Amino acid sequence: MSLKYKVLAKDGNARLGVLETAHGEVRTPAFMPVGTAATVKAMFPEDIKATGADIILGNTYHLMLRGAAERIHKFGGLRKFMNWHGPILTDSGGFQVLSLTKLRKITEEGVTFRSHLDGTKYELTPERSMEIQYFLGSNVTMILDECPPYPISYMKAKKSMELSLRWAERSKAAFIKREGHGIFGIVQGSVFEDLRAKSAQTLVDMDFDGYALGGVAIGEMQELMFQTLEFTVPLLPQEKPRYLMGIGKPKDIVGSVMRGVDMFDCVLPSRSGRNGQAFVRGGTINIKNAKYSEDTKPLDDKCECYTCKNYSRAYLYHLVRCKEILGAMLVTMHNLTYYQDLMQALRKAIEEKRLSSFESQGFI
Ligand SMILES: [Zn+2]
Repeated sequence: MSLKYKVLAKDGNARLGVLETAHGEVRTPAFMPVGTAATVKAMFPEDIKATGADIILGNTYHLMLRGAAERIHKFGGLRKFMNWHGPILTDSGGFQVLSLTKLRKITEEGVTFRSHLDGTKYELTPERSMEIQYFLGSNVTMILDECPPYPISYMKAKKSMELSLRWAERSKAAFIKREGHGIFGIVQGSVFEDLRAKSAQTLVDMDFDGYALGGVAIGEMQELMFQTLEFTVPLLPQEKPRYLMGIGKPKDIVGSVMRGVDMFDCVLPSRSGRNGQAFVRGGTINIKNAKYSEDTKPLDDKCECYTCKNYSRAYLYHLVRCKEILGAMLVTMHNLTYYQDLMQALRKAIEEKRLSSFESQGFI
């Protein structure tokens, strides 16, 4: 048995569920903090767990450079290496490699590229991506796909989607099956309904453990993204988890959960945290703003994180203005807690069948 997913309750198209892995359960809808280079920046692993996160994401691209993946494998995998004991999802490396537009070349075989760090040449094929994700000990492996830019012509989107399907087949064949570990397919096809349908149907026939929606969040407006979800999600099997990659803002997450998405990841809460932007109930605040310099309140008085229990906005203003490391740590910790509190509130709302009024409940 690879990965097991159970839908526990439904409210409209939204699902409350649990994904069982060899290293623990993931409650869905789930938000995965991004641990790019074997660390969720500015966070101790114990503190990531304390925010309520069940699973984190690791980036294949960053971990394949300079032989890191091989070293991590010798060390017993990413979990042991970085002292995170829960489940891990890794991306395929494709998205980052393909965004190195001037440094890469795509062929039927895979992608060759030069590292953004030192110009060293690498090759990423479906087989190599599977090998690296195996070395990292990933519970959820992602297939290597080609993620085209947006907007894109119909013909280019078709060609790219077909290449991704061939890579999907090779990824699945190269994936090493282990108990409590699985592999997700990625639906492509840009905003074209028939291409998405063909991609989804072919991947469903290949029988993956879950399905991601790729190329949805790249330069599209929220409305277009939601439309794409509305015609793609119903093509996916009910009993498998659905993952929207790289999303997003709290309102995007809520709208996507309502459309049947179960898993999310995004650098937004951690990256914003390092820049002094905090997500709080009802919106965001920029703690660098002078109006917070004498504000004795916590970032969010309904939040129970370590930051909000112990520090004022005035202190955070001071730390962030002075570019102190602790400022980045405290705001990141709060933001990741806010995101997990949001997911918990969504799970509760689905269970109690009151998701349709979620936007008016003051969280976002
Ligand atoms: Zn807080």
